[in-house]
Amino acid sequence: MKTIYLIFVLMSTFCVHAYAQQKPYMDYVLSWGGDTSILEVELTYSASQKDSTVFVFGDPGFGGQNDIFKVIKNIRVNQPEVVKIDYATRQITIHHNGAKKHQIRYEIDGSFNESLPTVASQTELFRPVITKGLLTLVNKQFTLEITDESNPLVSFIWRDHPKNFNYFNSVVPSQRDPLKNISAYYNQISEMVYFVMGDNIDVREYNVMDIPYYSVTTKKDKYGNDLQGSLSPFFESYFPSIHRFWNDTDFPFYFLAVSALQNNQKEIGAGGFGMKNGFVMKLGRTFGAWEKYVTAHETAHTWLGIKMMLGKESFDHQWFGEGFNDYTTLINLTNSKIYGQEEFLHYLNEDTLKKHYESEVKGAHNDSIAANYWTDYANYGKLPYRRGLIYAFFLDNQIRLASNGKFTLRNMLLDLYRYRKAKSKDEVLTVDDFISVGATYIDKEELSQQVKRFMIEGLPIDFNNVKLIDAFNIKINDGIPKLNLSEGADLATIYLI
Ligand SMILES: [Zn+2]
Repeated sequence: MKTIYLIFVLMSTFCVHAYAQQKPYMDYVLSWGGDTSILEVELTYSASQKDSTVFVFGDPGFGGQNDIFKVIKNIRVNQPEVVKIDYATRQITIHHNGAKKHQIRYEIDGSFNESLPTVASQTELFRPVITKGLLTLVNKQFTLEITDESNPLVSFIWRDHPKNFNYFNSVVPSQRDPLKNISAYYNQISEMVYFVMGDNIDVREYNVMDIPYYSVTTKKDKYGNDLQGSLSPFFESYFPSIHRFWNDTDFPFYFLAVSALQNNQKEIGAGGFGMKNGFVMKLGRTFGAWEKYVTAHETAHTWLGIKMMLGKESFDHQWFGEGFNDYTTLINLTNSKIYGQEEFLHYLNEDTLKKHYESEVKGAHNDSIAANYWTDYANYGKLPYRRGLIYAFFLDNQIRLASNGKFTLRNMLLDLYRYRKAKSKDEVLTVDDFISVGATYIDKEELSQQVKRFMIEGLPIDFNNVKLIDAFNIKINDGIPKLNLSEGADLATIYLI
């Protein structure tokens, strides 16, 4: 058996080597003058034995951009190649006509319409922002998608850029020199990559349990923010806390990129999106309590949401992906002392219990959430967050009581995470898995009934008949439960990790 194994290894090594030599590639060369709103892109790529290559630009699903050909402009190729553009499908087809070398050049227009100021942070999040002294770009906003499955090696390098501008890229974040080449395989970066450059940009590096963390912010804005100062508690205590919570440092790097909106005339709260190893936020006001919560919630999704999800897609069981994520967020904000008792109780009472028990759709079935999510976001959008957080808190109390304080919900989540990691990537983590894992801590039939009634059918938990740990008590006024800490109880002790 040993000989056969050895031969197999030798053969496969040879194959990989032979394959690597003819690996397809896409090499981007970028240029920006620093005071214009135009990014020049030059893409050289391989196209062996093909008559034509088809690229696609932009994604209307990414923030609903409808004016994609106002962003990509002046698309051109060298003779004898010919370019054809289908504006409806956003397909850019290059007929090679026998050419051996392949290059396409285009411009990305990141200008603002100043008579149409930004009214929601999403507007600037989902479009390229290229303005005097500042550039923020997601790769969906300036690179081309390839339609074949060739998984090329993609590289980026800057040709012209303003001297002394700070630079960050999320492909190889340790590479801070734009004149140095960075590369990765297409499937590693096709989800999302973020580029930032500017003289109003500050990039700091932290070491969190031996993982490189990057803090990328605008230096100055009209709200007087000191964003590096606002974010430092996350790097110093929140991220270490959440790594300890999950017992997990299996992570190449992580970045937070928070920048001020550039085209807003009034104060606008923060909006953001997560990507594989980072979180991007834009804001147009002071970085306050809400922004702290958003930063903590979104970065916590690395585990609940990305590394571990219930169901086939995130919409199936948002009570878990959003609600349980909110509970781990609160635990770690408390543990890292970014949230004190007052903020913890405010989030649970005012933002969660009150709003949920007053909601007209609080009893909606889990299946009706996805259907109404975008059309009635005000009611349905927040429903799974609140419903799931309330149940996570309830379940944590049940586990603590059943084990006389020996175990908490964290133990169950850690078991579930181990269970997830033992499954193959295409296997789905199911509600049945959640119940089997939880059965170590509380009665299986009871847990199964709770999930069915409270999370799937949507019946609100009746806190009149619920026993909590001694540290907590709930009073009900006009049907609205309100949580209090018992005398002498201390959140830092309850949520010690
Ligand atoms: Zn979320």
